[in-house]
Amino acid sequence: MNPKKIQPPIKGGKNSLGKNIAFSIFILVMVLIGYGAYVQNQQANKKEEVSFSGLIDKVNKSEVDTVTQKGQKLEIKLKGQDKATEYAVLPSGASATEQGLDASKVNFQSKLEENGTVWQDALINILAPILIFGAFFYFMMKQAQGQGNQAMSFGRSKARIYGNEKKKVKFSDIAGNAEAKQDLWEVVEFLKHPKKFEAVGAKIPKGVLLVGSPGTGKTMVARAVAGEANVPFFSISGSEFVEMFVGVGASRVRDLFNVAKKNAPAIIFIDEIDAVGRRRGSGMGGGHDEREQTLNQILVEMDGFEQGQNVIVIAATNRADVLDPALLRPGRFDRRVHIPLPERQDREKILTIHFKNKPVDKTVDLLSLSKKTAGMAGADLANLANESAIVAARNNRKHINNSDVTEAFERVAIGPERKSTVMTDKDKELTAYHEGGHALVGHVLPNADPVHKVTIIPRGGTGGVTWSLPVDDKSYHSLAEMKDRLAVSMGGRIAEEIIYGQENVTTGAGSDLESASALARDMVTKQGMGSKLYNQVFPDDAGGMMFDKMTHSKPYSEKTAEEIDKEVESLMKDAYERARKVIKLNIKSLEAIKDALLERETLDDEDVTDLFKAAKNVV
Ligand code: ADP
Repeated sequence: MNPKKIQPPIKGGKNSLGKNIAFSIFILVMVLIGYGAYVQNQQANKKEEVSFSGLIDKVNKSEVDTVTQKGQKLEIKLKGQDKATEYAVLPSGASATEQGLDASKVNFQSKLEENGTVWQDALINILAPILIFGAFFYFMMKQAQGQGNQAMSFGRSKARIYGNEKKKVKFSDIAGNAEAKQDLWEVVEFLKHPKKFEAVGAKIPKGVLLVGSPGTGKTMVARAVAGEANVPFFSISGSEFVEMFVGVGASRVRDLFNVAKKNAPAIIFIDEIDAVGRRRGSGMGGGHDEREQTLNQILVEMDGFEQGQNVIVIAATNRADVLDPALLRPGRFDRRVHIPLPERQDREKILTIHFKNKPVDKTVDLLSLSKKTAGMAGADLANLANESAIVAARNNRKHINNSDVTEAFERVAIGPERKSTVMTDKDKELTAYHEGGHALVGHVLPNADPVHKVTIIPRGGTGGVTWSLPVDDKSYHSLAEMKDRLAVSMGGRIAEEIIYGQENVTTGAGSDLESASALARDMVTKQGMGSKLYNQVFPDDAGGMMFDKMTHSKPYSEKTAEEIDKEVESLMKDAYERARKVIKLNIKSLEAIKDALLERETLDDEDVTDLFKAAKNVV
């Protein structure tokens, strides 16, 4: 079935501007050609004046074929000519014969003066330039209006339309996401067979909210719904509604819904709906007004769908918690479909899809890659496949091999190697102790993720990297795991401290400590993992804009805030003590890994296990 022709949302765009200009030029050229032809014709018909006596002379010499009298004018057609080429003017009011023209020697005709030609001449001479200029000004005006329209098109939606392209996205193009596909299949059915549902009194859903982290494939899923149902798909991002001027967003919403209704059945996809659909706040700070108007217009349009207008709005967000409750009530975005980060099997399927059209050799192991990529979204995996191809091409290989894939993975996960950075021997040694410290604590503590790789080659923005990966995908993390993770973060600073003394610790640990502090605060305020504040959570004012943050007080007292600070401090101290004990107890292992790193620069999990065979835990 051929898709319906889609009506474009924007008139008077660039294309029609081009057409107008081309049309004006065409008209102008045509008029000029016509006028030119007329002038040429006039010139061709131009006759030379001879005196009346000259005419009598020519007649007497039998040179003249015909004389045609038009008023006082005598047009002369000479013999051998096919039209009159000369003329003479009668000297007086008497007739030509009376004045000496021998009518027997020529074919003499007398015609009434053709006033018409005088008028015609006058008309053409005066009207033609007026017409030319008139036409010119008319099109100039149209142009100016066109520009005005462009200014007016500000209020028109900027939605991109899909639906006529040959290769539609189908559910089979999406790996995993089985539940989302199942939930959305119903929407496809609604769009395909609305009558079936209406017959039993079922109302077609108006809005579906897709919730998931960036890159999990929300846009893709929405496009697949349109592809499966074979309906046009209008895509716009929430942030595109809102411009500098108040009212523009609302008018864009109106325009978008109008176009979609004209093309019904259709899907409107609003990406990042949180840009307009945030919970309404204190009302301070300008932006609110515009967002609220836009949001209200979306709600009004959704309420205004009539029976039989099969337009379904699919919106996407990664922050459903900050959305205005008015958006989520029944009759609006009441269907919520969760698009989670892919699990191990799904990651393997996504990788398979994205490596499908790339030449890979037998060494490429997507299974182990899928194990290592926990936490990556579909878009990251697609990017990983692309990076692998780039690495292979850079290495002048025709096929992608496993080392290309590994290099691409490390580039994506921790940034590219910066081998050119020159480090002094002292810095190298310090980095080796620092990373060795992390690795040692990570290896020894039972609940920490196993060490995957340690390197003292600078990568991304860091001097060296210790990289731990979980054994398998985990949905939850225990308190013991979190505590061990804190201790691992401290390992680098402590190794420096033990080896070089407290006075000589460096700035290398800044980012470790920053992430450790953030983790500890999260444990206390969001996970209820404090000791005194156990099982209590203290959310910040989620979703509020800056002004709300300034005007709203914290949802807990100053005393509790102090308590939270103490809890964070205690978690950090505890982690510090444990990591310190581990390193002191295993100082020989630290020296061993430092030497190995200075020699080989990068160590993998097997090397680490081998080096730390003798390492012991403190408890
Ligand atoms: P979102 O809208 O959630 O940010 P997108 O739909 O834009 O994510 O996804 C970006 C890209 O990631 C897609 O174009 C696709 O190549 C890839 N991708 C994401 N999820 C999947 C999946 N489940 N299967 C195949 N490819 C996926």
